[in-house]
Amino acid sequence: MIPEPESISDLLDRLSAIVPDYPAEGISFKDLTPVFADPAGLRRIVDEVIAPFAGQFDVIAGLEARGFVMAAAAAYATGTGMITIRKAGKLPRPVHRDEYTLEYGTGTLELHRDDVAPGTRVLILDDVLATGGTVGSAARLLEKVGAKVVGVGVVLELAGLGGREKLAGLKVHSLQLV
Ligand code: AMP
Repeated sequence: MIPEPESISDLLDRLSAIVPDYPAEGISFKDLTPVFADPAGLRRIVDEVIAPFAGQFDVIAGLEARGFVMAAAAAYATGTGMITIRKAGKLPRPVHRDEYTLEYGTGTLELHRDDVAPGTRVLILDDVLATGGTVGSAARLLEKVGAKVVGVGVVLELAGLGGREKLAGLKVHSLQLV
């Protein structure tokens, strides 16, 4: 008998590492690096995160740092380009800057002013959606340069933190609600 293919939820349960009290007490950190390190795992999460957006984007925005892994693989697989939305001070040319709050602190994201042409259709990818602060900030940066955010793809969506509600108006696709 041919075995049933493993569901994406079973794959994520098997490979994700949950780290209690990291990086601060009370935070349950979802470490997806073992999923990235698994050849079948990386391919599955990238393919399944982008599936609902097929044909709808010109470029993929990755959020530093784990979003870069997803976005680069997805851009390569779909023959699109990738842009990097980075933490403050990392990009060498003139940037737009946006401040935001996240589950365990505050942060600043930046985007090169000329990395995306106005009207470009952009898909945002990251590993985990928690409060939605990071993705919301990325979306504001992309709007500043006149891009159109067609959607948001994440592997894990943390329940009860209001991320999806905060991003109302954006199509959000997650592979597992935890
Ligand atoms: P947020 O802005 O609150 O939606 O937080 C999402 C960003 O912070 C993503 O880039 C995640 O990588 C990271 N993050 C926030 N909370 C967690 C968590 N519990 N486990 C893993 N990553 C997290």
